[in-house]
Amino acid sequence: MMDLIIPDKTHDEERQGEALMLDAVAGKNNGRKLYIESYGCAMNFSDSEIVASILQESGFETTKDYNNADVVFINTCSIRENAEQRVRNRLKEFTVAKVKNPGMIVGVLGCMAERLKSKFLEEEKLVDVVVGPDAYRDLPNLIDTADGGQKAVNVLLSREETYADINPVRLNTNGINAFVSIMRGCDNMCSFCVVPFTRGRERSRDPQSIVKECTDLFNQGYREVTLLGQNVDSYKWTPLPTLPPNGGEGSEQGTNQSLPLGEVGGVSFANLLEMVALISPELRVRFSTSHPKDILDDVLYTIAKYDNICNCIHLPVQSGNSRVLEMMNRTYDRAWYMERVDAIRRIIPDCAISTDIIAGFCSETEEEHQDTLSMMDYVQYDFAYMFTYSERPGTLAAKRYADDIPETIKSRRLKEVIAKQQHYSHIRLQKQIGKVQKVLIEGFSKKSDKDYCGRSDKNAMVVFPVDDRFKPGQYVNILVDRCTTATLIGNIVAP
Ligand code: SAM
Ligand code: SF4
Repeated sequence: MMDLIIPDKTHDEERQGEALMLDAVAGKNNGRKLYIESYGCAMNFSDSEIVASILQESGFETTKDYNNADVVFINTCSIRENAEQRVRNRLKEFTVAKVKNPGMIVGVLGCMAERLKSKFLEEEKLVDVVVGPDAYRDLPNLIDTADGGQKAVNVLLSREETYADINPVRLNTNGINAFVSIMRGCDNMCSFCVVPFTRGRERSRDPQSIVKECTDLFNQGYREVTLLGQNVDSYKWTPLPTLPPNGGEGSEQGTNQSLPLGEVGGVSFANLLEMVALISPELRVRFSTSHPKDILDDVLYTIAKYDNICNCIHLPVQSGNSRVLEMMNRTYDRAWYMERVDAIRRIIPDCAISTDIIAGFCSETEEEHQDTLSMMDYVQYDFAYMFTYSERPGTLAAKRYADDIPETIKSRRLKEVIAKQQHYSHIRLQKQIGKVQKVLIEGFSKKSDKDYCGRSDKNAMVVFPVDDRFKPGQYVNILVDRCTTATLIGNIVAP
């Protein structure tokens, strides 16, 4: 299976397997070292920050070298078979360290842990601890059990857990961009997808804790937050029932009074976006992922209303053909998707749109594949994540449909999809030449410390010469004068 990632930050290929580090906290050290590395989507990296926070409270320090660690955790992804294979290969590499240091505890966290449960312990003998995405509060106990020589498993899924009260420690951060989880799980049951089984039912996090976390980040100097969820447009938080006038001392009566309750009878995603945008015009707000069936005009009008909500929408299409979409159980068809794209173009002219595409889903014909290509011509996506279909055990598609498109055909269709996307990505960048982009400086460019890099509102990477008057975390206007296949290049101009 072959993936091509056109860079975006919600699934950053360069961060796969990254070891996460946090600062030691005075007085809390238990003398033990944690090594934690993460795979998959931004949600997993965000979860690792929650895990780090929980273990920091128990006195752990982090290390970047698993050979020196007392506890080695790998936060896993199950979305495609090659993601799981990558984790298994990595576990093999930990075997040597464990032979040298038999007291070392190896734990598997996240989606693969949830999918395989205790079977993991049989399949991978070196693993001591298996923990699903809703059980991270239990980690200190599970580590204690493993210290006592027993294997420990907690893969219970929850209908309530949002870790709202846990202040994630920001790991490997540039101090400028942060991911903030606003919901967990997914109720959609797309037939190809393992997420509803590994991350459980959808639940939204209390909006006040989200606004507080974003405000704290802003006060610490962060200038961009990305609100994360599998399906952010179905975010909905319903207020606690209001207690009667004499509703008890110390009650939570009034907790919700300051919330702008939308038409949904609670806080909708559009309401939440507005609440976060209002923290400061200097705080950029992004979000991911939007499901085409749920992105309604109220969200689009909110984006249009606030300059600091980025004009950039990730709207996975998966296929451009209505029969395939129905088999995928996506609950929209080609016409619906095109109408949503038209609405975006009407309400937010020049909005960047990105997508996910699966090539070679069960029974996809050549004509149906052509429909995906013609959808790409229609939308002209700014960038895309593109995959061949990978059958996942236990999903609806695995139960109902034969994975009957030969790998050679899947790969050829994927190549065609990639070629088309590269064409449109380049055209999109070329259109910016001669225009001024507002860029948030993120740091030095990878190639030279004589250049800064940062992102435009539309999430394009922009490189320009360092100017001592400006520092990372500040906004500058850049006149774009040329581009490579993935980057805009220009110079600072007066505001
Ligand atoms: N919730 C998001 C949505 O609905 O668009 C997507 C989340 S999923 C983690 C990211 C992407 O992985 C999907 O949009 C899909 O393109 C891809 N994906 C998921 N399951 C897959 C499978 N079995 N084979 C190939 N690609 C898959
Ligand atoms: Fe998976 Fe569909 Fe949920 Fe996205 S919306 S996480 S693709 S089930």
